[in-house]
Amino acid sequence: MIKQRKIAIVGAGLVGGSAALFCAYSIPGVQIVLIDLAPVRAQGQVLDLAHAAAIWRSAHFCAGDYADARDADIVVITAGAGVKRGQTRLDLAHINAGIIREIVDQTSRYAPNAIYIIATNPCDVLAYVVYDHLRLPRERVISTGTELDTARLRTLLSERLGVVAPAIYAYMIGEHGESAIIHWSGATVSGMPLESFLSRTGKELSAASRDLVLRSVVESAKMIKEGKGATHYGIASAIARICQAILHNSDLILSVGVVHAEIEGVPDVCLSLPSLVDSQGARLVAYPLLTADESESLRKSAEVVKSATDAILNMTKEKTAAVA
Ligand code: NAD
Repeated sequence: MIKQRKIAIVGAGLVGGSAALFCAYSIPGVQIVLIDLAPVRAQGQVLDLAHAAAIWRSAHFCAGDYADARDADIVVITAGAGVKRGQTRLDLAHINAGIIREIVDQTSRYAPNAIYIIATNPCDVLAYVVYDHLRLPRERVISTGTELDTARLRTLLSERLGVVAPAIYAYMIGEHGESAIIHWSGATVSGMPLESFLSRTGKELSAASRDLVLRSVVESAKMIKEGKGATHYGIASAIARICQAILHNSDLILSVGVVHAEIEGVPDVCLSLPSLVDSQGARLVAYPLLTADESESLRKSAEVVKSATDAILNMTKEKTAAVA
């Protein structure tokens, strides 16, 4: 009998619910389990999702507890606390790190062979926390990283260059956050290097426009939140694309994060580079060719993630020592 593929999504909020919908739509026949601290929220999502899916195709949703994640192929983590008044980003990261350790203690009991996808922010730091806590192979803990930022970049370039987004290969790399960079020197449009495309078409992308594109990518989340309160379709679509690449063993190149042994001299850090995603998880097949400026910016980005990760790990050690 063919085993039904299973995705367990922990955190049935806006991101988790939307990710379930995109997964159901893009991976026919998949079983999706939604788990939440508030079971009623997961139940509400599942009811709504089942109705949505029935219009397009049948899908198997269930609201469950951790035992329902048994033998899941993928565990997606979208659970997290919201920011409270007076809290710093580091405080929130520390709280979410605690939540995520409790979650993976449960999921690893029931789904020991699962590949993890971490979307809860700060996703690169929290992917490191999961990797460190469960001691899994690097390729099996994936931060959604800059896959969403890359989609935002391609949308902006598509508007400016008048070419559909799928004809543009340009990646955001580094941290999913303010230190992310655009890998301009590796960008291609309609099969040719970006610079050749610009000179042959007479289009322009000045240094000021490139800065504006970078700022617009990094600040997209803020703009969306000002308009509608939260961002969820973009990240949910990125989650589904990663799940699809894993379950269909598609060898896609996606800009996702794994813990790299070293990036630009910074050891043991989770950040995004274009990586191959297949049934084994995500891994780097070729380190990108970077200009000297891009190497320096990537080094700075790696340092930002590394120091936030070290701060979270130290806060946990101090707390454990205080309790003992
Ligand atoms: P939300 O508040 O709608 O949902 C979060 C859910 O997590 C809630 O239903 C809550 O009950 C649940 N939860 C909290 N603690 C839990 C626990 N211990 N176990 C199980 N469930 C628990 O939030 P959202 O808008 O869905 O966002 C979720 C996360 O995704 C946030 O951390 C957000 O920053 C992040 N996010 C990441 C990206 C990205 O690009 N990586 C983009 C958007 C949002």
